[in-house]
Amino acid sequence: MSTMTEAAAEAAIGAAALSLRLPTVRTEASRLADDAAREGLSHRAYLAAVLCAEVDERDARRVERRVAEARFPRIKRLSDFDLSAAPSINRATFAAVASLSWVDAGQPLVALGDPGTGKTHILIGAGLAAAEAGKRVRYTTVAALVNELAEAADERVLSRVVARYGRLDLLCLDELGYVKLDPRGAELLFQVMTEREERASIAVASNAPFSEWGQTFPDPRLVGAVVDRLTFNAHILETGTSSYRLRSSRARAKAQRGDQ
Ligand code: ADP
Ligand code: MG
Repeated sequence: MSTMTEAAAEAAIGAAALSLRLPTVRTEASRLADDAAREGLSHRAYLAAVLCAEVDERDARRVERRVAEARFPRIKRLSDFDLSAAPSINRATFAAVASLSWVDAGQPLVALGDPGTGKTHILIGAGLAAAEAGKRVRYTTVAALVNELAEAADERVLSRVVARYGRLDLLCLDELGYVKLDPRGAELLFQVMTEREERASIAVASNAPFSEWGQTFPDPRLVGAVVDRLTFNAHILETGTSSYRLRSSRARAKAQRGDQ
């Protein structure tokens, strides 16, 4: 009788969990019940354990989804960024960036420096941390974004795509200033930026100082608006002029030659 009841209970839990869309309850309830019996847990403690398992699983899945949706080209962490190799970076600003409070405050992040100095690393690192904190993040380059928007406009779905960018908590926009935008491209990029105005953060990386951003945008009024949008309350990290990539490959070559 009691085994029948247990079996019926198992079946009822399985069916209910399926209909309530609680996959972790479905797979874990039985094992947790055995644990609870062995440890003499109360009914309340057992229920808590089952529900927490579902919540934990769901959080983990959401983080995975957020990271996948961000489409990082590779995984980089802020914790792997060697500050001692980047003396031009303000330590307090870096710590503030790592804390992610700027994402909640809707403030911009700007990484400026020469090629190979860690700008993309910082952009991905900040974006990954935000995605792991459950934020909606997307990483892209200016060129890729402008292409995507131009295609969307051709297919008459521009407003939908712009709105999707507007819903992100953080847009990581890499390689600003690498390509000179045509007027249409600049206008499309600007549309995404204004859609996000004041509400959500943008993180940009550029190898050009602010004073040269004008060369990216054909219309000087757009430059003013874009610079304004990206610098107001911005956290600015200057990664400097000394390529980390070059330095580490030189150090490797030196080690191979057996130099000091
Ligand atoms: P940028 O975007 O400025 O051209 P990257 O971020 O692509 O430079 O950096 C080039 C390589 O050097 C990457 O593999 C990056 O992880 C690494 N790198 C750069 N700076 C640092 C640093 N301070 N600490 C650790 N790795 C770094
Ligand atoms: Mg880069």
